[in-house]
Amino acid sequence: MKPTGPRRRVALVAAAALVLLAATACSAADQPPRKPSPSKAAAHASVPVPTPTPTPTPTATAAGFDKHAMSIDDPASIWVAVNKPRPLNPLNYAPPSLVYPDVTYVNRQPMRPEVAEALVAMFHAGKAEAGLDFSVQSAYRSFESQTRVYDDDAARHGVAGADTDTARPGHSEHQTGLAVDISAVPAKCSLDACFAHTPQGEWLAANAWRFGFLLRYPADKVAVTGFTFEPWHFRYIGVPLATQLKQANVTTLEEFFGVPGGTEYH
Ligand code: ZN
Repeated sequence: MKPTGPRRRVALVAAAALVLLAATACSAADQPPRKPSPSKAAAHASVPVPTPTPTPTPTATAAGFDKHAMSIDDPASIWVAVNKPRPLNPLNYAPPSLVYPDVTYVNRQPMRPEVAEALVAMFHAGKAEAGLDFSVQSAYRSFESQTRVYDDDAARHGVAGADTDTARPGHSEHQTGLAVDISAVPAKCSLDACFAHTPQGEWLAANAWRFGFLLRYPADKVAVTGFTFEPWHFRYIGVPLATQLKQANVTTLEEFFGVPGGTEYH
């Protein structure tokens, strides 16, 4: 268990308040209840020993690509690098504009306009090229709704368990309006690692970059991103950067930009 700092106490008070309000608040949850996964059971059994994660060395890029063309610190930038040691600034950032693209939703949640445009193009291509149908499982979550999701997860699975797969408020890509969790239609393996082996999961993993999306939490980069494998979570970064990552065979923003990542909150 982590030391209980002021922020955690606030979160715990909020969690207690949520329990009291559960009768009316449950319907506001952003995601359906999930079955405990084997990895979560393991997280219960023992608190992981923190391992320091060295800051990755920035990756060389092809000639003509400017790594500094956009900010990785500004939460409004489509290149923003947000993770456990790199919170959004301000912590309660909200995008100025959010839209609902004309797609299928599990949870009707909006996203940034440029994300919506790219997502529609990607879903259309998946249908045209491979006959696949997709849905938006979840998209934008506000600071307040991320607080509810995180506190609910922590109440059920403990802080260590929650920290493996749910970002703390102010540390979530969903709060930027640039991240979309995608599910298959008909639903199969939603929000589960086995989504990677569905036709939709395989097609997205191979093709999302063409539309400016990055499979943000790859299976072999848990120590870098700080999150378990999430084959359903796609982060919009724009076509030029996604293409650059693909060509450089780099799969994380942390490695590409040489910024801190890892599983520890600072
Ligand atoms: Zn997600």
